[in-house]
Amino acid sequence: MKTSKHDAPKLSKSRYISGLQCHLRLWHECYNRELAGSVDAATQAIFDTGHEVGVLATKLHPGGLLIEADHFHHEDAVKQTLVAFADHKLPAIFEAAFLHAGVRNRADILVRGRGEQWDLVEVKSALDVSDTNVDDLALQHWVLTGAGIDIRRAGVLTLNRDYVYDGREYDVDELFLLHDLTDTVPGMAKDVAKNVKAMHEMLAQRGPPKIEPGNQCFDPYDCPFYEHCTKGMTFPEHPFGELPKLHPTKRAALKALGVETVEDVPKTFALTALQKRVRDCVRTGKEYVGNALAAVLDEPEYPIHHLDFETFMLALPRYKGTRPYQTLPFQWSNHIESAPGRLKHDEYLCREDKDPRPEFVETMLASLGTKGTICIYTPYEIRVIRELAKALPKYARRLQALEDRCWDLCNVIRDHYYHPDFHGSFSIKQVLPVLVPGMSYERLAVKDGMEASRVYVEALQTDDARRRQEIHDGLIEYCGQDTLAMVRLREALAKR
Ligand code: SF4
Repeated sequence: MKTSKHDAPKLSKSRYISGLQCHLRLWHECYNRELAGSVDAATQAIFDTGHEVGVLATKLHPGGLLIEADHFHHEDAVKQTLVAFADHKLPAIFEAAFLHAGVRNRADILVRGRGEQWDLVEVKSALDVSDTNVDDLALQHWVLTGAGIDIRRAGVLTLNRDYVYDGREYDVDELFLLHDLTDTVPGMAKDVAKNVKAMHEMLAQRGPPKIEPGNQCFDPYDCPFYEHCTKGMTFPEHPFGELPKLHPTKRAALKALGVETVEDVPKTFALTALQKRVRDCVRTGKEYVGNALAAVLDEPEYPIHHLDFETFMLALPRYKGTRPYQTLPFQWSNHIESAPGRLKHDEYLCREDKDPRPEFVETMLASLGTKGTICIYTPYEIRVIRELAKALPKYARRLQALEDRCWDLCNVIRDHYYHPDFHGSFSIKQVLPVLVPGMSYERLAVKDGMEASRVYVEALQTDDARRRQEIHDGLIEYCGQDTLAMVRLREALAKR
Protein backbone atom coordinates (compact mmCIF):
# COMPACT_ATOMS: atom_id res chain seq x y z
CA MET A 1 0.00 0.00 0.00
CA LYS A 2 1.35 3.44 -0.98
CA THR A 3 0.90 6.60 1.08
CA SER A 4 1.64 10.09 -0.12
CA LYS A 5 2.19 13.59 1.27
CA HIS A 6 0.52 16.79 0.15
CA ASP A 7 0.95 20.33 1.47
CA ALA A 8 -2.54 21.80 0.94
CA PRO A 9 -5.22 21.00 3.56
CA LYS A 10 -6.18 17.38 3.26
CA LEU A 11 -9.56 16.49 1.82
CA SER A 12 -11.79 13.83 3.34
CA LYS A 13 -15.04 12.28 2.17
CA SER A 14 -17.13 14.88 4.02
CA ARG A 15 -14.96 17.75 2.74
CA TYR A 16 -15.17 16.37 -0.81
CA ILE A 17 -18.98 16.29 -0.61
CA SER A 18 -18.91 19.86 0.76
CA GLY A 19 -16.66 20.86 -2.14
CA LEU A 20 -19.07 19.34 -4.65
CA GLN A 21 -21.83 21.42 -3.09
CA CYS A 22 -19.86 24.68 -3.07
CA HIS A 23 -16.16 25.53 -3.16
CA LEU A 24 -16.71 28.35 -0.69
CA ARG A 25 -18.23 25.91 1.79
CA LEU A 26 -15.14 23.73 1.47
CA TRP A 27 -12.90 26.78 1.92
CA HIS A 28 -14.68 27.74 5.14
CA GLU A 29 -14.57 24.14 6.42
CA CYS A 30 -10.81 24.08 5.93
CA TYR A 31 -9.94 27.58 7.14
CA ASN A 32 -12.89 29.18 8.97
CA ARG A 33 -14.79 26.46 10.79
CA GLU A 34 -15.74 28.91 13.52
CA LEU A 35 -18.02 30.74 11.06
CA ALA A 36 -20.38 27.76 10.89
CA GLY A 37 -23.64 27.82 12.80
CA SER A 38 -23.76 25.46 15.77
CA VAL A 39 -25.00 21.91 15.23
CA ASP A 40 -28.68 21.86 16.18
CA ALA A 41 -30.38 19.07 18.12
CA ALA A 42 -32.03 17.63 14.98
CA THR A 43 -28.70 17.36 13.14
CA GLN A 44 -27.04 15.86 16.21
CA ALA A 45 -29.80 13.23 16.38
CA ILE A 46 -29.07 12.30 12.73
CA PHE A 47 -25.33 11.95 13.54
CA ASP A 48 -26.13 9.77 16.56
CA THR A 49 -28.39 7.50 14.52
CA GLY A 50 -25.69 7.17 11.86
CA HIS A 51 -23.19 6.14 14.51
CA GLU A 52 -25.56 3.59 16.05
CA VAL A 53 -26.32 2.04 12.66
CA GLY A 54 -22.62 2.01 11.75
CA VAL A 55 -21.72 0.08 14.89
CA LEU A 56 -24.53 -2.42 14.28
CA ALA A 57 -23.36 -3.00 10.69
CA THR A 58 -19.98 -4.24 11.95
CA LYS A 59 -21.83 -7.27 13.42
CA LEU A 60 -22.19 -8.51 9.84
CA HIS A 61 -18.50 -9.41 9.99
CA PRO A 62 -17.68 -11.12 13.29
CA GLY A 63 -13.97 -11.13 14.02
CA GLY A 64 -13.39 -7.86 12.15
CA LEU A 65 -11.01 -5.31 13.64
CA LEU A 66 -11.81 -1.67 14.42
CA ILE A 67 -8.96 0.77 13.75
CA GLU A 68 -8.90 2.61 17.06
CA ALA A 69 -6.96 5.81 16.23
CA ASP A 70 -9.44 8.66 15.77
CA HIS A 71 -9.78 11.26 13.02
CA PHE A 72 -7.33 13.58 14.76
CA HIS A 73 -4.60 10.94 14.50
CA HIS A 74 -4.88 9.92 10.87
CA GLU A 75 -1.23 8.90 10.45
CA ASP A 76 -1.53 6.52 13.41
CA ALA A 77 -4.73 5.15 11.90
CA VAL A 78 -2.93 4.52 8.58
CA LYS A 79 -0.14 2.68 10.43
CA GLN A 80 -2.68 0.54 12.34
CA THR A 81 -4.42 -0.20 9.04
CA LEU A 82 -1.14 -1.43 7.51
CA VAL A 83 -0.68 -3.80 10.44
CA ALA A 84 -4.26 -5.06 10.06
CA PHE A 85 -3.73 -5.68 6.34
CA ALA A 86 -0.77 -7.90 7.16
CA ASP A 87 -2.88 -10.07 9.47
CA HIS A 88 -4.43 -12.47 6.97
CA LYS A 89 -6.67 -14.01 9.62
CA LEU A 90 -8.75 -10.79 9.87
CA PRO A 91 -11.96 -11.16 7.84
CA ALA A 92 -12.77 -7.43 7.88
CA ILE A 93 -11.42 -4.03 8.95
CA PHE A 94 -13.64 -1.24 10.24
CA GLU A 95 -12.64 2.43 9.81
CA ALA A 96 -9.51 1.48 7.82
CA ALA A 97 -7.48 4.65 7.09
CA PHE A 98 -5.85 5.73 3.83
CA LEU A 99 -4.13 8.74 2.32
CA HIS A 100 -3.81 9.29 -1.39
CA ALA A 101 -3.06 12.49 -3.33
CA GLY A 102 -3.94 14.72 -0.39
CA VAL A 103 -7.20 12.93 0.41
CA ARG A 104 -7.72 11.15 3.71
CA ASN A 105 -10.27 8.40 3.93
CA ARG A 106 -11.73 6.17 6.60
CA ALA A 107 -13.60 3.26 5.02
CA ASP A 108 -16.59 2.10 7.09
CA ILE A 109 -16.08 -1.59 6.28
CA LEU A 110 -13.45 -3.42 4.25
CA VAL A 111 -14.15 -7.10 3.79
CA ARG A 112 -11.31 -9.42 2.85
CA GLY A 113 -11.97 -11.21 -0.43
CA ARG A 114 -9.87 -13.80 -2.19
CA GLY A 115 -6.11 -13.26 -2.21
CA GLU A 116 -5.35 -9.56 -1.80
CA GLN A 117 -8.78 -8.36 -2.95
CA TRP A 118 -11.15 -6.35 -0.76
CA ASP A 119 -14.81 -5.32 -0.76
CA LEU A 120 -15.45 -1.70 0.13
CA VAL A 121 -18.69 -0.95 2.01
CA GLU A 122 -20.07 2.45 2.98
CA VAL A 123 -22.77 2.30 5.67
CA LYS A 124 -25.74 4.69 5.58
CA SER A 125 -28.60 4.94 8.06
CA ALA A 126 -31.08 5.45 5.21
CA LEU A 127 -33.39 3.24 3.15
CA ASP A 128 -32.17 4.34 -0.29
CA VAL A 129 -28.90 5.26 -1.96
CA SER A 130 -28.66 8.95 -2.86
CA ASP A 131 -26.51 10.58 -5.56
CA THR A 132 -24.36 11.96 -2.75
CA ASN A 133 -23.74 8.43 -1.43
CA VAL A 134 -22.55 7.42 -4.90
CA ASP A 135 -20.18 10.42 -5.06
CA ASP A 136 -18.92 9.51 -1.60
CA LEU A 137 -18.25 5.89 -2.60
CA ALA A 138 -16.61 6.94 -5.89
CA LEU A 139 -14.16 9.12 -3.97
CA GLN A 140 -13.35 6.27 -1.58
CA HIS A 141 -12.86 3.85 -4.46
CA TRP A 142 -10.48 6.34 -6.10
CA VAL A 143 -8.50 6.87 -2.88
CA LEU A 144 -8.18 3.18 -2.06
CA THR A 145 -7.29 2.21 -5.61
CA GLY A 146 -4.73 5.04 -5.67
CA ALA A 147 -3.32 3.77 -2.38
CA GLY A 148 -2.73 0.38 -4.01
CA ILE A 149 -5.75 -1.57 -2.71
CA ASP A 150 -7.31 -4.06 -5.09
CA ILE A 151 -11.06 -3.47 -4.78
CA ARG A 152 -13.16 -6.44 -5.86
CA ARG A 153 -16.57 -4.92 -5.13
CA ALA A 154 -17.89 -1.61 -3.81
CA GLY A 155 -21.31 -0.87 -2.43
CA VAL A 156 -23.51 1.10 -0.04
CA LEU A 157 -25.14 -0.70 2.86
CA THR A 158 -28.54 0.70 3.85
CA LEU A 159 -31.34 -0.41 6.13
CA ASN A 160 -33.88 -2.76 4.58
CA ARG A 161 -37.37 -1.22 4.52
CA ASP A 162 -38.95 -4.72 4.41
CA TYR A 163 -37.27 -6.00 7.56
CA VAL A 164 -39.82 -6.73 10.29
CA TYR A 165 -38.44 -6.69 13.82
CA ASP A 166 -39.36 -9.75 15.91
CA GLY A 167 -38.76 -7.98 19.23
CA ARG A 168 -35.53 -9.86 20.00
CA GLU A 169 -31.94 -9.19 18.88
CA TYR A 170 -31.70 -7.64 15.40
CA ASP A 171 -31.08 -10.13 12.60
CA VAL A 172 -28.37 -8.03 10.92
CA ASP A 173 -28.35 -10.20 7.78
CA GLU A 174 -31.99 -9.20 7.21
CA LEU A 175 -31.82 -5.69 8.66
CA PHE A 176 -29.25 -4.45 6.13
CA LEU A 177 -29.30 -4.36 2.35
CA LEU A 178 -26.17 -4.04 0.20
CA HIS A 179 -26.48 -1.97 -2.97
CA ASP A 180 -23.69 -3.11 -5.27
CA LEU A 181 -22.16 -0.18 -7.17
CA THR A 182 -19.12 -2.04 -8.50
CA ASP A 183 -20.21 -1.28 -12.06
CA THR A 184 -20.72 2.42 -11.37
CA VAL A 185 -17.99 3.93 -9.23
CA PRO A 186 -14.79 2.92 -11.09
CA GLY A 187 -16.13 4.79 -14.14
CA MET A 188 -16.33 7.97 -12.07
CA ALA A 189 -12.58 8.00 -11.34
CA LYS A 190 -11.73 10.64 -13.97
CA ASP A 191 -14.32 13.04 -12.60
CA VAL A 192 -13.18 12.39 -9.03
CA ALA A 193 -9.57 13.17 -9.98
CA LYS A 194 -10.68 16.37 -11.74
CA ASN A 195 -12.80 17.46 -8.78
CA VAL A 196 -10.05 16.73 -6.25
CA LYS A 197 -7.52 18.70 -8.33
CA ALA A 198 -9.91 21.66 -8.64
CA MET A 199 -10.58 21.62 -4.88
CA HIS A 200 -6.88 21.51 -4.01
CA GLU A 201 -6.13 24.35 -6.44
CA MET A 202 -8.92 26.42 -4.95
CA LEU A 203 -7.64 25.76 -1.41
CA ALA A 204 -4.14 26.85 -2.45
CA GLN A 205 -5.38 30.35 -3.43
CA ARG A 206 -4.69 33.34 -1.17
CA GLY A 207 -8.34 34.10 -0.52
CA PRO A 208 -11.75 32.44 -0.64
CA PRO A 209 -13.51 31.90 -3.97
CA LYS A 210 -16.11 34.52 -4.87
CA ILE A 211 -19.42 32.66 -4.75
CA GLU A 212 -22.82 34.22 -4.11
CA PRO A 213 -25.48 32.39 -2.06
CA GLY A 214 -27.96 30.55 -4.28
CA ASN A 215 -29.77 27.25 -4.69
CA GLN A 216 -26.57 25.35 -3.89
CA CYS A 217 -26.82 26.54 -0.26
CA PHE A 218 -29.57 23.94 0.39
CA ASP A 219 -28.64 21.15 -2.02
CA PRO A 220 -27.88 18.42 -1.10
CA TYR A 221 -27.58 19.73 2.48
CA ASP A 222 -28.32 22.97 4.32
CA CYS A 223 -25.00 24.80 4.43
CA PRO A 224 -23.85 25.71 7.96
CA PHE A 225 -22.27 28.93 6.64
CA TYR A 226 -25.51 30.37 5.28
CA GLU A 227 -25.90 32.88 8.10
CA HIS A 228 -22.35 34.09 7.56
CA CYS A 229 -22.64 34.29 3.76
CA THR A 230 -25.91 36.23 3.87
CA LYS A 231 -24.97 38.60 6.72
CA GLY A 232 -25.94 42.17 5.78
CA MET A 233 -27.74 41.05 2.62
CA THR A 234 -31.24 42.32 1.99
CA PHE A 235 -33.79 40.13 0.30
CA PRO A 236 -36.93 41.28 -1.53
CA GLU A 237 -40.11 40.83 0.49
CA HIS A 238 -41.63 38.66 -2.22
CA PRO A 239 -38.92 36.86 -4.25
CA PHE A 240 -40.36 35.10 -7.31
CA GLY A 241 -39.54 31.75 -5.65
CA GLU A 242 -42.72 32.34 -3.60
CA LEU A 243 -44.82 31.30 -6.60
CA PRO A 244 -46.17 27.87 -5.55
CA LYS A 245 -44.87 24.79 -7.40
CA LEU A 246 -42.75 26.80 -9.82
CA HIS A 247 -41.15 24.37 -12.28
CA PRO A 248 -37.32 24.55 -12.48
CA THR A 249 -37.53 25.48 -16.20
CA LYS A 250 -39.83 28.40 -15.35
CA ARG A 251 -37.50 29.37 -12.53
CA ALA A 252 -34.57 29.41 -14.95
CA ALA A 253 -36.60 31.37 -17.52
CA LEU A 254 -37.50 34.06 -14.96
CA LYS A 255 -33.87 34.29 -13.86
CA ALA A 256 -32.81 34.71 -17.48
CA LEU A 257 -35.33 37.54 -17.81
CA GLY A 258 -33.70 39.27 -14.83
CA VAL A 259 -36.84 38.89 -12.71
CA GLU A 260 -36.25 38.98 -8.94
CA THR A 261 -39.63 39.53 -7.34
CA VAL A 262 -43.18 38.24 -7.69
CA GLU A 263 -44.28 41.76 -8.72
CA ASP A 264 -41.78 41.75 -11.59
CA VAL A 265 -43.13 38.57 -13.22
CA PRO A 266 -44.46 39.80 -16.61
CA LYS A 267 -48.21 39.56 -17.26
CA THR A 268 -47.45 37.59 -20.41
CA PHE A 269 -45.40 34.93 -18.56
CA ALA A 270 -47.28 31.61 -18.44
CA LEU A 271 -48.34 30.78 -14.85
CA THR A 272 -50.82 28.38 -13.27
CA ALA A 273 -54.08 29.83 -11.92
CA LEU A 274 -52.72 29.69 -8.38
CA GLN A 275 -49.43 31.32 -9.33
CA LYS A 276 -51.36 34.10 -11.10
CA ARG A 277 -53.47 34.60 -7.99
CA VAL A 278 -50.33 34.89 -5.84
CA ARG A 279 -48.81 37.41 -8.25
CA ASP A 280 -52.02 39.50 -8.40
CA CYS A 281 -52.38 39.55 -4.59
CA VAL A 282 -48.76 40.64 -4.15
CA ARG A 283 -49.16 43.33 -6.81
CA THR A 284 -52.34 44.78 -5.31
CA GLY A 285 -51.40 44.06 -1.68
CA LYS A 286 -54.92 42.67 -1.20
CA GLU A 287 -56.28 39.30 -0.15
CA TYR A 288 -58.17 37.05 -2.55
CA VAL A 289 -61.54 35.65 -1.48
CA GLY A 290 -63.06 33.13 -3.87
CA ASN A 291 -66.78 33.39 -4.69
CA ALA A 292 -67.40 29.85 -3.47
CA LEU A 293 -65.59 30.22 -0.13
CA ALA A 294 -68.74 30.77 1.98
CA ALA A 295 -70.52 27.78 0.42
CA VAL A 296 -67.51 25.49 0.95
CA LEU A 297 -67.21 26.56 4.59
CA ASP A 298 -70.83 25.51 5.06
CA GLU A 299 -70.10 21.91 4.02
CA PRO A 300 -68.95 20.43 7.38
CA GLU A 301 -71.66 18.75 9.44
CA TYR A 302 -71.91 18.94 13.23
CA PRO A 303 -70.34 17.67 15.38
CA ILE A 304 -67.29 19.02 13.58
CA HIS A 305 -64.10 17.23 14.72
CA HIS A 306 -60.71 18.90 14.20
CA LEU A 307 -58.12 16.16 14.10
CA ASP A 308 -54.33 16.19 14.12
CA PHE A 309 -51.71 13.44 14.60
CA GLU A 310 -48.08 13.46 15.66
CA THR A 311 -45.90 10.61 14.46
CA PHE A 312 -42.32 9.42 14.77
CA MET A 313 -39.96 7.19 12.82
CA LEU A 314 -36.96 5.28 14.06
CA ALA A 315 -34.13 4.08 11.84
CA LEU A 316 -33.84 0.98 14.01
CA PRO A 317 -37.25 -0.50 14.87
CA ARG A 318 -38.00 -0.51 18.58
CA TYR A 319 -41.22 -2.51 18.77
CA LYS A 320 -42.10 -6.01 17.61
CA GLY A 321 -43.75 -6.05 14.19
CA THR A 322 -42.37 -2.68 13.05
CA ARG A 323 -39.90 -1.84 10.27
CA PRO A 324 -37.00 0.62 9.84
CA TYR A 325 -38.30 4.18 9.47
CA GLN A 326 -41.91 3.04 9.80
CA THR A 327 -44.20 5.94 10.68
CA LEU A 328 -45.82 5.33 14.06
CA PRO A 329 -48.48 7.72 15.36
CA PHE A 330 -48.10 8.44 19.08
CA GLN A 331 -50.46 11.37 19.73
CA TRP A 332 -53.76 12.78 18.54
CA SER A 333 -55.78 15.87 19.40
CA ASN A 334 -59.45 16.47 18.59
CA HIS A 335 -61.29 19.75 19.13
CA ILE A 336 -64.98 18.94 18.75
CA GLU A 337 -67.44 21.68 17.86
CA SER A 338 -70.79 20.09 18.74
CA ALA A 339 -72.76 23.22 17.78
CA PRO A 340 -71.64 26.69 16.61
CA GLY A 341 -69.21 28.03 19.25
CA ARG A 342 -69.57 25.01 21.60
CA LEU A 343 -66.15 23.39 21.94
CA LYS A 344 -64.79 20.29 23.71
CA HIS A 345 -61.26 18.90 23.58
CA ASP A 346 -60.13 15.24 23.57
CA GLU A 347 -56.52 14.09 23.34
CA TYR A 348 -54.23 11.11 23.58
CA LEU A 349 -50.47 10.86 24.08
CA CYS A 350 -48.70 7.54 24.52
CA ARG A 351 -46.55 8.10 27.60
CA GLU A 352 -45.16 4.59 27.82
CA ASP A 353 -42.34 2.97 25.86
CA LYS A 354 -44.53 0.62 23.79
CA ASP A 355 -46.07 0.34 20.32
CA PRO A 356 -48.59 3.18 20.60
CA ARG A 357 -50.85 2.13 17.73
CA PRO A 358 -53.52 -0.08 19.36
CA GLU A 359 -54.24 2.40 22.14
CA PHE A 360 -54.00 5.31 19.70
CA VAL A 361 -56.65 3.75 17.45
CA GLU A 362 -59.03 2.70 20.22
CA THR A 363 -59.04 6.11 21.91
CA MET A 364 -59.29 8.00 18.61
CA LEU A 365 -62.23 5.92 17.36
CA ALA A 366 -64.02 6.52 20.64
CA SER A 367 -63.48 10.27 20.36
CA LEU A 368 -64.52 10.53 16.70
CA GLY A 369 -67.63 8.37 17.06
CA THR A 370 -69.58 7.77 13.87
CA LYS A 371 -71.04 11.19 13.20
CA GLY A 372 -69.86 14.54 11.93
CA THR A 373 -67.21 15.94 9.65
CA ILE A 374 -63.53 15.42 10.48
CA CYS A 375 -61.59 18.57 9.65
CA ILE A 376 -57.92 17.88 8.85
CA TYR A 377 -55.11 20.04 7.50
CA THR A 378 -53.39 18.26 4.54
CA PRO A 379 -54.07 14.58 3.71
CA TYR A 380 -51.37 13.38 6.13
CA GLU A 381 -53.94 12.07 8.65
CA ILE A 382 -55.66 10.05 5.90
CA ARG A 383 -52.34 8.44 4.95
CA VAL A 384 -51.69 7.49 8.59
CA ILE A 385 -55.25 6.11 8.99
CA ARG A 386 -54.73 3.91 5.90
CA GLU A 387 -51.48 2.55 7.34
CA LEU A 388 -53.19 1.85 10.65
CA ALA A 389 -55.99 -0.03 8.88
CA LYS A 390 -53.38 -2.26 7.22
CA ALA A 391 -51.40 -2.83 10.43
CA LEU A 392 -54.44 -3.45 12.67
CA PRO A 393 -57.01 -5.39 10.61
CA LYS A 394 -59.40 -5.72 13.52
CA TYR A 395 -60.05 -1.95 13.30
CA ALA A 396 -59.80 -1.71 9.50
CA ARG A 397 -63.51 -1.27 8.71
CA ARG A 398 -64.02 1.46 11.30
CA LEU A 399 -60.80 3.22 10.27
CA GLN A 400 -61.71 3.11 6.58
CA ALA A 401 -65.10 4.64 7.41
CA LEU A 402 -63.33 7.75 8.75
CA GLU A 403 -61.93 8.64 5.35
CA ASP A 404 -65.30 9.64 3.86
CA ARG A 405 -65.84 12.05 6.74
CA CYS A 406 -62.54 13.90 6.27
CA TRP A 407 -62.58 17.49 4.99
CA ASP A 408 -59.23 19.12 4.21
CA LEU A 409 -59.09 22.74 5.37
CA CYS A 410 -55.72 23.29 3.68
CA ASN A 411 -57.30 22.47 0.30
CA VAL A 412 -60.14 24.88 1.02
CA ILE A 413 -57.69 27.70 1.71
CA ARG A 414 -55.51 26.84 -1.29
CA ASP A 415 -58.54 26.83 -3.61
CA HIS A 416 -60.50 29.77 -2.23
CA TYR A 417 -58.32 32.20 -0.30
CA TYR A 418 -54.91 33.91 -0.49
CA HIS A 419 -53.12 36.63 1.43
CA PRO A 420 -49.78 38.16 0.33
CA ASP A 421 -48.37 37.45 3.82
CA PHE A 422 -48.67 33.71 3.13
CA HIS A 423 -45.52 34.17 1.02
CA GLY A 424 -46.55 31.30 -1.21
CA SER A 425 -46.97 28.79 1.64
CA PHE A 426 -50.21 27.20 2.87
CA SER A 427 -48.65 25.49 5.89
CA ILE A 428 -50.70 26.01 9.04
CA LYS A 429 -47.67 27.67 10.68
CA GLN A 430 -47.65 30.30 7.93
CA VAL A 431 -51.39 30.75 7.50
CA LEU A 432 -52.44 30.89 11.18
CA PRO A 433 -50.74 34.15 12.32
CA VAL A 434 -51.99 35.92 9.17
CA LEU A 435 -55.63 34.93 9.59
CA VAL A 436 -55.66 34.73 13.40
CA PRO A 437 -53.27 37.43 14.66
CA GLY A 438 -51.95 36.66 18.13
CA MET A 439 -52.09 32.92 17.60
CA SER A 440 -48.76 31.51 16.44
CA TYR A 441 -46.36 28.71 17.22
CA GLU A 442 -43.51 31.01 18.26
CA ARG A 443 -44.05 30.85 22.03
CA LEU A 444 -44.50 27.07 22.16
CA ALA A 445 -41.80 24.71 23.47
CA VAL A 446 -42.50 22.41 20.48
CA LYS A 447 -42.87 24.41 17.28
CA ASP A 448 -43.33 21.92 14.47
CA GLY A 449 -43.96 18.27 13.66
CA MET A 450 -40.29 17.42 13.13
CA GLU A 451 -39.44 18.74 16.57
CA ALA A 452 -42.41 16.88 18.07
CA SER A 453 -41.08 13.66 16.59
CA ARG A 454 -37.51 14.31 17.76
CA VAL A 455 -38.41 15.20 21.36
CA TYR A 456 -40.82 12.26 21.62
CA VAL A 457 -37.90 9.94 20.84
CA GLU A 458 -35.79 11.86 23.37
CA ALA A 459 -38.51 11.24 25.99
CA LEU A 460 -38.43 7.51 25.18
CA GLN A 461 -34.68 7.37 25.65
CA THR A 462 -34.10 9.62 28.66
CA ASP A 463 -33.88 8.44 32.27
CA ASP A 464 -34.66 11.98 33.47
CA ALA A 465 -38.31 11.88 34.58
CA ARG A 466 -38.52 15.68 34.80
CA ARG A 467 -37.31 16.15 31.22
CA ARG A 468 -39.77 13.48 30.07
CA GLN A 469 -42.62 15.32 31.78
CA GLU A 470 -41.49 18.62 30.28
CA ILE A 471 -41.48 17.05 26.80
CA HIS A 472 -44.92 15.51 27.26
CA ASP A 473 -46.33 18.84 28.43
CA GLY A 474 -44.85 20.56 25.36
CA LEU A 475 -46.33 17.93 23.05
CA ILE A 476 -49.80 18.22 24.59
CA GLU A 477 -49.73 21.99 24.10
CA TYR A 478 -48.41 21.75 20.54
CA CYS A 479 -50.84 19.15 19.20
CA GLY A 480 -53.75 20.90 20.94
CA GLN A 481 -52.75 24.16 19.27
CA ASP A 482 -52.86 22.50 15.82
CA THR A 483 -56.50 21.48 16.24
CA LEU A 484 -57.62 24.68 17.95
CA ALA A 485 -55.93 26.53 15.08
CA MET A 486 -58.29 24.78 12.62
CA VAL A 487 -61.32 25.93 14.62
CA ARG A 488 -60.06 29.52 14.64
CA LEU A 489 -59.13 29.40 10.94
CA ARG A 490 -62.66 28.30 9.99
CA GLU A 491 -64.06 31.16 12.09
CA ALA A 492 -61.66 33.71 10.53
CA LEU A 493 -62.42 32.55 6.99
CA ALA A 494 -66.16 32.71 7.65
CA LYS A 495 -65.80 36.46 8.33
CA ARG A 496 -64.14 37.14 4.90
S1 SF4 B 1 -23.93 29.49 2.24
FE1 SF4 B 1 -24.04 29.01 0.08
S2 SF4 B 1 -22.51 30.30 -0.87
FE2 SF4 B 1 -22.06 30.29 1.30
S3 SF4 B 1 -20.59 28.65 1.57
FE3 SF4 B 1 -22.58 27.77 1.89
S4 SF4 B 1 -23.22 26.94 -0.04
FE4 SF4 B 1 -21.53 28.36 -0.45
